[in-house]
This record gives sequence, C-alpha cells and structure tokens, in this order.
Amino acid sequence: MDLSPTETQALVQKTARDYAERAILPRAAAIDASEAIPGDVVRGLGELGLLAVNVPVDLGGSGAGTVAYALAIQEVARACASTAVTMSVTNMVGEAIAHFGTAPQKSRYCPVLAQGDRGLGCFALSEPDAGSDPGAMKTTARRDGDAWVLRGNKQWISGGDAAAVIIVWARTGPIDAGTRGISCFLVPAGTRGLRVGKPEDKMGLRGSHTVALEFADCRVPADALLGRENEGFKVAMMALDGGRIGISSQAIGIARAALEESVRFAKDRRAFGVPIGDHQAIQWKLVDMQTEIDAARLLSLRAAWLKEQRRPFTREASMAKLFASEAAVRVCNDAVQIHGGYGYARDFAAERHLRDARVTTIYEGTSEIQRLVIARSALA
Ligand SMILES: Cc1cc2nc3c(=O)[nH]c(=O)nc-3n(C[C@H](O)[C@H](O)[C@H](O)COP(=O)(O)OP(=O)(O)OC[C@H]3O[C@@H](n4cnc5c(N)ncnc54)[C@H](O)[C@@H]3O)c2cc1C
Repeated sequence: MDLSPTETQALVQKTARDYAERAILPRAAAIDASEAIPGDVVRGLGELGLLAVNVPVDLGGSGAGTVAYALAIQEVARACASTAVTMSVTNMVGEAIAHFGTAPQKSRYCPVLAQGDRGLGCFALSEPDAGSDPGAMKTTARRDGDAWVLRGNKQWISGGDAAAVIIVWARTGPIDAGTRGISCFLVPAGTRGLRVGKPEDKMGLRGSHTVALEFADCRVPADALLGRENEGFKVAMMALDGGRIGISSQAIGIARAALEESVRFAKDRRAFGVPIGDHQAIQWKLVDMQTEIDAARLLSLRAAWLKEQRRPFTREASMAKLFASEAAVRVCNDAVQIHGGYGYARDFAAERHLRDARVTTIYEGTSEIQRLVIARSALA
C-alpha cells in the first residue's frame, strides 16, 4: 500500500497550495468581511486548471483525477472556505456535464466552467420545503412543443448569482412516481423567467453567496435536458457522492488552518510563566486535533481513490463527509478555546474557521443523512 501522491497529484497539490498561499490566504478575512470573492481570485483558479480538476482535457479540464481534486480543495479551503466551496461546486457541475451531457452540451459548457471568467457552475436541487428529502421537490418541468417550461423555487443555491449555467432538477413525472419522475436540466444564466434572490445573511462562508432561485415559467429548449427524462435523480445522487468528497476535503482544509494557527498561538502565548503549549491540557487538545484531521484525511482520500478506480464509493464518501465535517467543527471549536479571548475576536482567524466549518455538517447532505446512507449499506 502506497499513500504517497503520484507526480500529477503532487503537482496539482503544490499548484493549489502556492496559489492559495499567495493569492487567497492574505485576502481571506476581507473576503469574509466584504462578502465577495474578487474576480481575479476565481480567474486565477481557472487559469491553473483548478475549476475542472477532474474534467477531461479535451473539454478544457485538467484531467488530473479525483485524488488530485481532493488535495486541491484541501489547499484552497486551508486558505479560504468560501473560495473552496465555489471551486467545489463548479468542479462538481463540470464533471456532471462531462459525464451525463450530450456532445453539444459538453462542448458548450465544460470549457466555460473550466475557465471561470464567464461565470461558474451552480447546482440547484434544494427547495424551501425539500432539502434532506429532494424527492419531495415541487418544481415542475412541463413539455411544451420543442421546449420545457420550468416552474418552482429553489433555495440555498451556492453561487446562484454568479452562474454561467445552473443544473436544476424538476418533476417531469406524476407526483406518485417519486424520485423516478424527476429530470435534470441545464439552464444558462440570463434565461427569461429565471429570477435570482438576494444573498442569505449567513453565519459563515460569507464570501460565497447563497441565493434562492425562482423559475417563473422559465422556457428552455428540449436539448437542455441533462441525461434521460425522469432519470435526473440518478444524476443528482451521483454528483452528490462526488461532491461529498469535495466537502470532506473542504472541512479538512479548514481544520488544518485552525490547527496550524493554534500551534503558532500555543508557542507564543504565555500563561503562568510558560507558553500555553507547555500545559498538558493544551497539548492534548492539539494532539486530538491533529489525530482527527489525519483520520479525516485518510477517509477522504480513500473515497477519492475508489472513485478514481471506478469502484463503488457511495458509503465511503458519506463516511468521509460525516467524519471530516464533524471533526472540523470540533477542531475549530478547540482552536477558539486555545486562543482564549482572542479566539472570540475578529483579529484572529479562529472564529471565522468555526463559522465556516459549521456548514459542512449541513450541506450536501446533513450528518444525519450521511448516517442514513451508511446504515443502508451496513444493513443491506
Ligand atoms: C450555505 C449553504 C449552501 C448550500 N448550497 C446548496 C447548493 O448549492 N445547492 C443545493 O441544492 N442545496 C444547497 N444547500 C442546501 C443544503 O443541502 C440543505 O440545507 C441540506 O440538505 C438540509 O436540508 P434542509 O435545510 O431543508 O433541512 P431539513 O431537510 O429540513 O432537515 C432539518 C433537520 O432534520 C434532519 N433530518 C431530516 N430528515 C431526517 C431523517 N430522515 N432522519 C434524521 N434526521 C433527519 C436533518 O439532518 C436536519 O438536522 C446549501 C445550504 C447551505 C446552508
């Protein structure tokens, strides 16, 4: 068993780390405070191939695989969680189109998403009354001649106001067909009838805008269908399996940043005449943080490796996402504690890490839903 990265994986990791340290980390606090990711940060990700790490080269991607993708997300999240989620969703959308799209859909959207300068990817599954249970969605798509007409509301859509293209799910079959009556569509930005809401006022991840989308008789041509009619739920589930590797990597990146800053602080800050790192209570916190991060990293990279080998990875992706996100919250909470009063103030990044980490146990399937997925496989 060899846990060392391949040459390509190491190169992508280093590229992401160098760029994140140089261009993103120094601006992370400002991205949070201003609630915006500068355009040049996103363009830079595109120029380095980081918006389409696992998309084939002939579609404008890097073709570097899922492990490289996971390593890259970790590095970017270590610098800025908001930028990492933007990168993660765009990669996920590009991959889904590359996998399920027709030749014209792939050539139209994949290169645009890979570059990022004409808009990003966005994934519109959740609704105001259907989050954990997307099979209960109410958005509909009705066939009208050579077009589909979408009607309904999506909620909590990351980057919905900066999208080049939105993957949106809608009911095309009767309600009693459940998840077998759902189809998936590609809706370009600016389509008539698509209305974008104001960004939510969130606890964390403030640089990444989360918006509601309304589809008010939004008309798209017949060839906007992604995958087969009534088989869109499969597209969503496959994309989310891969997405969970992305979110576990994001959680690990945030936790790594919190740990590194805690170690620095523990060496500098003195109490009772010694650096606080000399107190065993602080040492044990640091040890637990490091151990949980390493465990999360192994789970996440195993899921990425399985996906890359085209082997089943649904359960492993859920385990990675469950453990890494819960661990990130614990690690970031301890980081605040180690920083004492300074951990509660904006002058240090610890409080931002905790706010950013908190959502990783919620989106792309809550921890409860990951447990459901894992239980299904355990009891099969
Ligand atoms: C910042 C942010 C960004 C997001 N980005 C996107 C995006 O880009 N695209 C998108 O489609 N969605 C996105 N989401 C939505 C996210 O995926 C949902 O919020 C999440 O799936 C939970 O759905 P919900 O909020 O409706 O909660 P609910 O489904 O109402 O759940 C509420 C609580 O009940 C629990 N629960 C529900 N069902 C069960 C069960 N069967 N067993 C045990 N517990 C259960 C949940 O775990 C949770 O704790 C985003 C959310 C946030 C906060």
